Amino acid sequence: MHHLITWIEEKLLQVNLVNTMDQADGFSRLGYTKEEQASQEQFRCIAKELGLQTHQDAAGNQWALWKVDDSASWIATGSHLDTVYNGGGYDGAAGVVASLAAVKLLKEASFQPKKNIAVIAFACEEAARFHVSTIGSKAICGILDKTKHASLEDNNGITLREAFANCGLDWELLHEARLEDHQLEQFVELHIEQASKLEKSGKELGIVRAIAQPTRLRITTVGKTNHTGTTPMEERQDALVAIAPIITFIEEATVDIIAQQQVPLVATVSTIQNSPNAISMIPGEVVLGVDIRSTRLQEKHELVKRITDYARSIEKDRPVTITIETLVDDEPTQLDSSIQAKLTHICEKIGLSSLPLDSGAGHDVMNLAKRWPCGLLFIPCRDGVSHHPSEHADSEDLLKGTRVLAEYLRETTGNNSLSLE
Ligand SMILES: [Zn+2]
Repeated sequence: MHHLITWIEEKLLQVNLVNTMDQADGFSRLGYTKEEQASQEQFRCIAKELGLQTHQDAAGNQWALWKVDDSASWIATGSHLDTVYNGGGYDGAAGVVASLAAVKLLKEASFQPKKNIAVIAFACEEAARFHVSTIGSKAICGILDKTKHASLEDNNGITLREAFANCGLDWELLHEARLEDHQLEQFVELHIEQASKLEKSGKELGIVRAIAQPTRLRITTVGKTNHTGTTPMEERQDALVAIAPIITFIEEATVDIIAQQQVPLVATVSTIQNSPNAISMIPGEVVLGVDIRSTRLQEKHELVKRITDYARSIEKDRPVTITIETLVDDEPTQLDSSIQAKLTHICEKIGLSSLPLDSGAGHDVMNLAKRWPCGLLFIPCRDGVSHHPSEHADSEDLLKGTRVLAEYLRETTGNNSLSLE
């Protein structure tokens, strides 16, 4: 297996367009840029070396195809090649390289699949550029809105439609990237965990059960702005003082629900706009942004109810009005249980320990899981750090993930038993 570790390390450098993974400023390879395209070019080179056909779809997703039978279905694996600003070289790239390495392992074992195998490098997974994530995989699933999403702008005012054009893509043909149900049978993604549960557990690989999705609230509190020097304490309608306790309340209520229900739940008061935000004026309006995430819709809604009740009690006590708007209320993604069982079984079979866990971050697989049976496999990343230059995953762990992917592809696409040792 040693040659495969070396191969994985080389290809990881290649798709990251560097000679060493130690980059002080990390990697800035945003979606639909020259940098992402250069990485995609390397992906195609590697695919060709492996004897795979390459194809770019209408949304700029890259496909490496091991096509054996026109009438057979497709089993796919892969991840993304774009990064955030000054991100790491493993988030996304690890899954793409491991998928290619799995194909290499199968080819070296002279495996003959009876179904077609695809490795996908999804375009623009990160929300860093257009503030919307997983654009390429959304296009494959047909859940991008051609009108609404065309005008998404990056920080330089370049629209998504223009970014497509700059990459030689035609936004008007976006619909062509959408796959019909029968064009894909299953998809499994490998990704770094981006948290430290796996590392702390001492287990080797994570089998993901569900992906948390956000519920987001905007809480607007309106009081009355007035002079801080001339308004007596008893005459104030201070919006900030009124709403301030809700920040601690949200933390306490979240901890309480976790303790009662034993479910993963996190909530953050992540933004605050205080108006007029002037030293000599009483705050007349405060807008808080709340981000709630869980793999369970019920507990997210329980927290929203508690927040709403608490806001009503504030309104009774103080001369302010509080409005709570739900901006986002996404249903958590449940991954296919039979694929989880299969991945768990494969780990056991090849002597690797595994941990069932949930994902707090979103991934391309969450879109595909809406339409096809899907799985997500985590490898550990050092100290749980990601989206940062110090992001790191061990080559040994990449190899372990690769072996599981290869065995998964083998079991799913063929019936001849082979040893991949
Ligand atoms: Zn990622």
